[in-house]
Amino acid sequence: MKRISILTDVLGPIMRGPSSSHTAASYAIGAFARASLGEQVRSAVVTFREGSSYAVCYHRQGSDLGFASGLLGWEMTDPRFRSALDLAPGCGLDITFGTAELQDDDHPNAVRLNLIGASGRQLEIMARSVGGGMFEITSLDGEPVHVRGPEPLPKHGDPPFCSAAEMTAWMGRTRIGAGEVGLMYETALLRLDASVVQAEMLKRCLVMRNAVQEGLRSAGDPMILLDRSAGSVYEAEAAGRVAIGGLHTRAAARAMAAMHTNCGMGMVCAAPTAGSAGALPGVLVTLSEEMGASDADIVRCMFAAGLIGAFIAERATFAAEVAGCQVEIGAATAMAAAAVVEFAHGTASQACDAAAVSLQNTMGSVCDLVQGVVEIPCHTRNAVGASSAFVVADLVLGGYRNPIPLDETIDAVLAVGKMMPEELRVTSRGGIAVAPSALAMRARR
Ligand code: SF4
Repeated sequence: MKRISILTDVLGPIMRGPSSSHTAASYAIGAFARASLGEQVRSAVVTFREGSSYAVCYHRQGSDLGFASGLLGWEMTDPRFRSALDLAPGCGLDITFGTAELQDDDHPNAVRLNLIGASGRQLEIMARSVGGGMFEITSLDGEPVHVRGPEPLPKHGDPPFCSAAEMTAWMGRTRIGAGEVGLMYETALLRLDASVVQAEMLKRCLVMRNAVQEGLRSAGDPMILLDRSAGSVYEAEAAGRVAIGGLHTRAAARAMAAMHTNCGMGMVCAAPTAGSAGALPGVLVTLSEEMGASDADIVRCMFAAGLIGAFIAERATFAAEVAGCQVEIGAATAMAAAAVVEFAHGTASQACDAAAVSLQNTMGSVCDLVQGVVEIPCHTRNAVGASSAFVVADLVLGGYRNPIPLDETIDAVLAVGKMMPEELRVTSRGGIAVAPSALAMRARR
């Protein structure tokens, strides 16, 4: 049992974009390394495994900014984040990045940090980014350790169940929604009052809402490869300048907006990762702005979404480095579909069915991000994910009987991920990432 927390491991961290694996986790590793050294860091040599996802993506996805900010002891929200590399020398930090064969760790997001402190103290840390902004420390000065973080909310208890099948057995004949079940799961795991856990969830809701609003502005922070188009899609729909339009198109525009904020290095909530931080906000903001959902309703929907994410994380992973886009956009869309079912007062079992159908529809989806940037195809995949969440929820609520249960579907997703070559798992060495037009694109920053 992994003891997955909905607030820590699924709907979080609240972070700066563009990538939970590469930006948020890098920041957290840097902060952990500084704390382990116990003093100001004077020199840092950051080494990635040759040919790995980290080695390919670290600059474009702001890993270098994350490591530098964490090693400098800054907050993630510090407005100097984007300038961390420029400001580091003036703050007394000499930081360099490189690649090498890391003999002891073949994880795609393995990294070695060699630090020298202000007093001359030295420390070598081996770490891995393991998806969703989380990290593992595997050795300190050559001594094997197992430290997982960051963990802002300690897990003092155990969840009452870890899979959809166990949940069904635990519930017996009770017919309640996944939102209520998710809240019970999290309060049992964290041993906190429901009101505290709900307040934590509301914080994530507000970050998501702000990310959508900021992303709909056409004059926001520039992205690397794409133009900011969410606002224009939204306005075109309102003006009747699209083919069909309607709630599904507006949800898609909102999902894309959250991703624009993410890629402008704005603040988002990983849901479950930063690359998939748009689908669920697109759905939630649509439910509140168009369907009359209150904040309490939205928090309930988020616990339903989070419960599905906990099942996925327990049996599989959110790391596209391991299983491709199936476990990022696929997971996000499954979670969003469960949120819609919850809003409509469907049962927990129906929420699981909607999640299973969503995952079945995204099965085999590869990670082929163009030029190592979380923009193409990520933004449109989030958009379509938000839109399809409504369709899938309607199919299930309307009477489609899902024959392949959620747990079995998750197992199949992981099995498919293990069959994927490394070229299709966040290395930008396959899929549309190697299309001539993708290779010819020019970065704007
Ligand atoms: S293609 Fe999918 S898995 Fe890869 S970075 Fe984009 S959203 Fe994440």
